[in-house]
Amino acid sequence: MDDRSKMRIAAARAAYGLEGQVAVVTGATSGIGRESALAMGIAGVRVVVNHRPGGEDKAQEVCAEIEAAGGTAMPGCADVSDEKQVDAMFERAVGKFGAVHILLANAGLQRGARFEEMTLADWRMVIDVNLTGQFLCARAAVRHFLARGMQPEISPALGKIIHMSSVHQGIPWAFEVNYAASKGGVMLLMKSLAQEFGDRRIRVNAIAPGAIKTPINTDAWQTDEARAELLKLIPYGRVGETIDIAQTALWLASDLSDYVHGETIFVDGGMMLYPAFRGGG
Ligand code: NAD
Repeated sequence: MDDRSKMRIAAARAAYGLEGQVAVVTGATSGIGRESALAMGIAGVRVVVNHRPGGEDKAQEVCAEIEAAGGTAMPGCADVSDEKQVDAMFERAVGKFGAVHILLANAGLQRGARFEEMTLADWRMVIDVNLTGQFLCARAAVRHFLARGMQPEISPALGKIIHMSSVHQGIPWAFEVNYAASKGGVMLLMKSLAQEFGDRRIRVNAIAPGAIKTPINTDAWQTDEARAELLKLIPYGRVGETIDIAQTALWLASDLSDYVHGETIFVDGGMMLYPAFRGGG
C-alpha cells in the first residue's frame, strides 16, 4: 500500500468507527487479502491474518506491517477448505481477542483448463477453496456471532460477513468453468445467508472485483500486449489495484454501510457494462 493510501485510511479512522473490532481476513498474505488486512489494521481493526499451513512467515510480515502502523494483528493458520482448521482458527482468534466482528472470506484460487481436459482434482480444488472455504468460514463466524450476542457499544450489527466474489459470478468464463461455478455459488451463498440471518442482525454482502493486479492473474496484465487486451474489457481505462478492493471492504465492514445487506458491490471499472457495445454494438 502506498503512503498516500495509508494516510487516507489513517485519517478516516474515526469516520469508519472500526476501532477495537476484530476481523478474520482469509488469504491475507497476498494480493487483495493482504491489502485489506493492512487497511483494516490501519483503521484500528484487530486483524487475524489467515494463511495456509506453511505460510507463517508471510503472515508474520503482514502482522509486523500492521503493528508498525500502530495496529494489532495475529497470524491465523488454516486451510480454509479444512473444517477442523477453520474452526480451530476461529477459536484461537476468540481466545486472543475475545470476539470476532468481521469476516472477510477472501481466499481463492484458479485452476483453469480446457473443459474436456479439466481433471476432477482441478474442479474439486477450486470448489473446495473458493466455495466450501467460504461456507466453512461463514459458518464458524455465524456460530460465534450467535453465541456471543449483541454488543451495541461496538456495532449495531451482531456481525458482518463479506464474501469475495468476482465479476465471474455473472460473466461466464471459458476455460475457467470451475472458477466461474464457484463464484456463482458464492453469490447465492451470500444472498441466502443474508436472507436467513438478517433478522439476527448479521449483515452479509459480497465484493465482485473485476481485473485487479495480483499474483492470481499476472498473465493478464504484466506485458504491454496483455494489458492492452485487458483494457478493452474495462471502460474506466485502467487495471484495478488492490487498494480499490481494500477500501470497499473497509466500508462494507464498517457501520457506515449498516443498511447495505445482501448486496454484491462490483468494483470493476465498468467491466459489467458489456464493453463490446461501447461503439454502439
Ligand atoms: P492471490 O493469489 O494474490 O491471493 C489469494 C490468497 O488466497 C493467497 O494468500 C493464498 O495463499 C490464499 N489461499 C489459497 N488457497 C487457500 C486455502 N486453501 N486456505 C487459505 N488460504 C488460501 O489472489 P487475489 O487476486 O488477491 O485473490 C483474492 C480473492 O479475490 C480470490 O477469492 C479471487 O477469486 C478474488 N478475485 C480476484 C480478482 C483479481 O483480478 N485479482 C478478480 C476477481 C476476484
